[in-house]
Amino acid sequence: AEDMEYRLRTGEVVDDSTYPMAPHMRSEEARLQTLSSWPSTAPVRPRDLAQAGLFYLGESDRVQCFCCGGMLGGWEAGDTPWAEHTKHFPYCFFILGHDVGNIPLQGGTVE
Ligand SMILES: [Zn+2]
Repeated sequence: AEDMEYRLRTGEVVDDSTYPMAPHMRSEEARLQTLSSWPSTAPVRPRDLAQAGLFYLGESDRVQCFCCGGMLGGWEAGDTPWAEHTKHFPYCFFILGHDVGNIPLQGGTVE
């Protein structure tokens, strides 16, 4: 995958108060809902995208992180959302494991 647009610059200090970028997408369930129209031909799964903090922008295969606002697209076979997120936006507070208000999917459904 490639980052579509840099919202964060490497090494830039970010104020805690600006996080998360999209508070209404803190919930993994809300993120999954945006992915209901995710193209079935894309090589990454909605569940994995949502778990990596990403939600669908409804256009092509572009997704955005609820926390850092980083955008990713151009998914290729073998990509994993978490790894691409980490690679392109290594200073994302969600990626770094900070408490940014993420709400994991409840229920623990096994597929
Ligand atoms: Zn992020």
